Amino acid sequence: MVYENPDGVRIGLEVHVQLNKLNTKLFCGCSTDYHDSEPNTHVCPVCLGLPGALPVINEKAVEYAMKIGLALGCDIVEQTQFHRKNYYYPDLPKGFQTTQYDFPIAGEGKVVIEGEDGERDIGITRAHMEEDPGRLQHMGSIDKSKGTLINYNRSGMTLIEIVSEPDMRSPKEARRYLDKLRSILDYLDVFNGDLEGAMRVDANVSVFMGERVEVKNISSFKGAERALLYEIMRQKNQIRRGGEITLETRHFDEARGVTLSMRTKETENDYRYFPEPDLMPMRVADRVPAVAATLPELPDAKRNRFLEEYDMTDMHAKALTSDQDIADFYEAVAQNENIDSKDAAVWVADIFKGEWNYRDLAIHGRTNDPVTPPYSWVKLSGANRKDPTITSSIGSDDLIYIIGSVNNGEISDNSGIEVIRIILDEGGSANEVIDAKGLRKVEDDIVATAVSETIAENEAAVQDYLGGAEKSLNFLVGQVMKKTKGRADARQARELLVAALKS
Ligand SMILES: [Zn+2]
Repeated sequence: MVYENPDGVRIGLEVHVQLNKLNTKLFCGCSTDYHDSEPNTHVCPVCLGLPGALPVINEKAVEYAMKIGLALGCDIVEQTQFHRKNYYYPDLPKGFQTTQYDFPIAGEGKVVIEGEDGERDIGITRAHMEEDPGRLQHMGSIDKSKGTLINYNRSGMTLIEIVSEPDMRSPKEARRYLDKLRSILDYLDVFNGDLEGAMRVDANVSVFMGERVEVKNISSFKGAERALLYEIMRQKNQIRRGGEITLETRHFDEARGVTLSMRTKETENDYRYFPEPDLMPMRVADRVPAVAATLPELPDAKRNRFLEEYDMTDMHAKALTSDQDIADFYEAVAQNENIDSKDAAVWVADIFKGEWNYRDLAIHGRTNDPVTPPYSWVKLSGANRKDPTITSSIGSDDLIYIIGSVNNGEISDNSGIEVIRIILDEGGSANEVIDAKGLRKVEDDIVATAVSETIAENEAAVQDYLGGAEKSLNFLVGQVMKKTKGRADARQARELLVAALKS
């Protein structure tokens, strides 16, 4: 099936990723750990842009930027350079933003997404480094705001701006691109996507090959999808009424779900870019091999390996590799000798992940970091965003115990799911929860179940026995013993079988 794209929609995204896992800002030593702090407490003359202050490049930020570029399959430039992008806005008091212009650190690359009609490549135009401006806080909606407050804690944070080609043909494809990008960045461990402002999206969108409109101020992926749906509809309606689409910048009002005209778009000339005289050009090509060696196995590669090494569907492979922590958790479970890898995929991808997502849990670290194969166990813990007073955690050993207990008939499938829920909401280990809640089937039940299953599954032997072949009973007893993994008493099994067959 080929997706026809009847409205000629073209979407390109500019994603600003804040490298909040760096300890210090891009050009000064201020701490990046400001998210829970009072406004304007993580600042210095450099990130406030005071006259005469001199920037010093954060080496680690350069390394992270190269990692991102390499993970997106981009060419890393020989020598990169910073420029001044001149504009005045109160969030940037020095009057220019230090950014990259004609020598961005990373050039063309691509991201593979699940498109409307199968896998497709979304081109990456470039990825460059720049400083984050401060944060304006409008008091109310932007067009009716009574006043604006400024917080410079964010000013000078390292941003990577990842610019895509206008290759996406629907809001859904845009959402998939964003999800994939976030997954790759999570793997690289360069940012914490749960922190406010960690990923911000500007979109360029056009219909019927017309003029493109830029939509700014999109702060969530869900918001991106909504903003694009609205903007595509607005452009189509305008054209239908005989109007024209003009090159402009619009603001997405998240609360109202609409885009509002901000200003006619500046052109590059308006910014009067010129090389930043306080920062020397930087030769980065020599560092590529060393940085490349630090790249982890990325989502696409991991997915392919899972399909090769374990018995699972493509859908499960995708679900299990979109997040590195979940992938590690799965491998810790699947590598247990008593667990079937397909079983583990169903339990982790369908059941466990469902319960995890239902609680909107955010993974914040594994306790036995760094995890390397072979996995003994992995513990996931997460903040419950629906109820911040709860921190949930569960170990791969718990899930192994649960799956094992279901497989040998000690607990039912439903009890297994219930145990996961209780561990996430109330804590405790699988063993404790099963005992405390009395979920274990009593021994007699297990044997009784095995007896009725054996009779149902072995009609020929049953008929033989009823026809007088006593020896068939031994075979049936053997089947019961096998089903209960030897936990039934042979004499008891024989008595139960005889009683059941006579009734
Ligand atoms: Zn500073």
